[in-house]
Amino acid sequence: MNILLKNVHWYAEDIEGRGDIRIERGRIRAIGYGLRPGRGEQVLNLAGYIVFPGLINAHDHLGLDLFPRRGNPPYTNFYQWARDIYNPDDAVQREIMSVDLRDRHLWGGYKNLVGGVTTVVHHDPYARAVFTRRFPVDVLRRYSWVHSLGYGEHIMPKAYWSRFRGRPFVLHAAEGTDRSSQQEIDRLHTMGLLASNTVLVHAVALEPRHVDLLATAGCSTVWCPASNHFLYGATSPVAALRYAGVPVALGTDSTLSGSPTLLHEIRMAHASEMAMADELFRMVTADAARIFRLTDGQGSLREGGRADISVFPDTSVSPAEALIDGGPSLVLVRGHIRLAQSDISAQLELESSDFRMRGQSTWLCGDVTELMRRIRTRVRTETLEQNPLWRMPIFAGHADHTDHPDHTDHPDHTDHADHTDHADHMHQADHAGQASTHKPHAPAIS
Ligand SMILES: [Zn+2]
Repeated sequence: MNILLKNVHWYAEDIEGRGDIRIERGRIRAIGYGLRPGRGEQVLNLAGYIVFPGLINAHDHLGLDLFPRRGNPPYTNFYQWARDIYNPDDAVQREIMSVDLRDRHLWGGYKNLVGGVTTVVHHDPYARAVFTRRFPVDVLRRYSWVHSLGYGEHIMPKAYWSRFRGRPFVLHAAEGTDRSSQQEIDRLHTMGLLASNTVLVHAVALEPRHVDLLATAGCSTVWCPASNHFLYGATSPVAALRYAGVPVALGTDSTLSGSPTLLHEIRMAHASEMAMADELFRMVTADAARIFRLTDGQGSLREGGRADISVFPDTSVSPAEALIDGGPSLVLVRGHIRLAQSDISAQLELESSDFRMRGQSTWLCGDVTELMRRIRTRVRTETLEQNPLWRMPIFAGHADHTDHPDHTDHPDHTDHADHTDHADHMHQADHAGQASTHKPHAPAIS
């Protein structure tokens, strides 16, 4: 669909202005003033709205976003938490892992969409059959990853391959507060794995000399403050990192430990007074695009760039604060409408929707009602209601229908989950100490 956005306020790292934006075949064709509608072009009057680049969530595990927060914090490192929560006999875990992995991924996709995200970095195997152009958001594809030093297989070939190809190499590191967490940075340094394409997720346990090491090597980090505070009661020294010149992006992590959406994460980070609204805006747009080497226009608004766009009400004192005050009214991924609130969707030929967000009927791409019905056939209501996303107003209104699983003989159907989900945190924990007998995964290099 070709769309002309009229009367908008646009804002990105390097531009701000008012006028019109033309979107053709998934790309921004023009940003200017007094643009006239072309033949067959859909015109949307967006007076009163601000157009941002689509937001980038720098860290998630899409297959785990049906979980509630789990564990008994505080912990002093990630490995303690992973061992603590992994219990294959636990009812909540069995129910959720019995949901088809494709549906769990899809639920994670909607989590990101309702947070205004257009690109997410998924820290588990890339699901080619699911992360197609029909998926609610774009999933970063060109990168290499391992879980962490403790649960990393083929770490050296993956690191060197990604460096050779100029792609990001992403791993959890220094996730905790103890000495063993700190020593991960020293080990990575000794192994020669701190490089300009290295992206360290969490990076909580850092001494000043570690900050210097990361800056000298040109590494980047991903900040997940909600997850860090929940698990460890501490978070990454982002001010010191940014002052030293280390680029920082922002991520939600999964709902096992993190925020329901990226907007919740932004608000939490803002409330912590560790970063200003403008800094947070760059962390979820231009800085994230640079860190993950997204060069097709993601994280920016530019002519010729991909039309990944999030539109928010323009009612805040400064543009970046709209991310803290509001939520998305319209989301486009590659120029395709993925979310539209009724004030805007009334101008479009979209089916009516009974999803409501911030008091407005909100159209979502795909069939969320059917997805939620399928999930309810596998997971009890009391379990689902612990999931912060399921409780969000937009979904809560759909959560009290029929199709509950039979509680008495449930759950006894977890087999497929065990085969498909070997990279999840908990399975990683299960494999600790069995590495020599467990068949290694194919390197997730794409
Ligand atoms: Zn993670």
